[in-house]
Amino acid sequence: MEDLDKIQQLEKKIKELENNLIHDKLTGLKTRAFFEEEISTYLEIIRQQRELIQSGDTSRREYFGFSNLSIIFFDIDHFKLVNDKYGHEVGDLVLVKVANTIRSSLRTGDTVARWGGEEMVTSLLGANEQDALTKAEEIRDNVANLSFPEAPELKITLSAGVTASDGEVDLTHLVRNADQAMYKAKESGRNKVLEFSQI
Ligand code: GH3
Ligand code: MG
Ligand code: MG
Repeated sequence: MEDLDKIQQLEKKIKELENNLIHDKLTGLKTRAFFEEEISTYLEIIRQQRELIQSGDTSRREYFGFSNLSIIFFDIDHFKLVNDKYGHEVGDLVLVKVANTIRSSLRTGDTVARWGGEEMVTSLLGANEQDALTKAEEIRDNVANLSFPEAPELKITLSAGVTASDGEVDLTHLVRNADQAMYKAKESGRNKVLEFSQI
């Protein structure tokens, strides 16, 4: 009987390990590692599909309906000040609320991950840069309107960068481009979204 309990405990541990590899503990968003694997794979599918179409073979087009994808890179503005002024626990609550706001704005199939500390990244399947800009603006506005009962006067804003790939640009460059656009948004005053093609 004890042996059975032990086995069940170990099986539970395996499930937890699997879950921790996919989900960020605090926010429940996907992990960066999961996001990188998933988006690299989507980009490869898009590239392969384009090659098939270019070679004249359109018979398998239904396998994957997307010819591009976009990403949005978000960074919370002056987040360090939130921790300094209200404490780490309120900081954590802010991260969870921002994460939920981003997640609830996305379509099924799109992914949002915690890239690191207060940085989050989303993929938008089938979206061009303009579509991503519109979505990022919507999320920026929703976050700017959040309120926090734990700290009634607290206001949170995001800066974001958007960029698209039709399979030519790999994940490393895609994230770098979105990150650059996000930094420009910071430089130009924060609470702002910029497109990589416009910087
Ligand atoms: P900027 O507008 O330029 O982005 O300024 P910032 O203060 O947001 O940027 P900075 O990179 O200086 O600070 C990020 C802060 O995020 C510092 C770190 O303590 C905090 N942070 C990272 N992870 C967590 C976390 O899990 N919980 C909490 N509460 N804070 C975190
Ligand atoms: Mg940051
Ligand atoms: Mg920040």
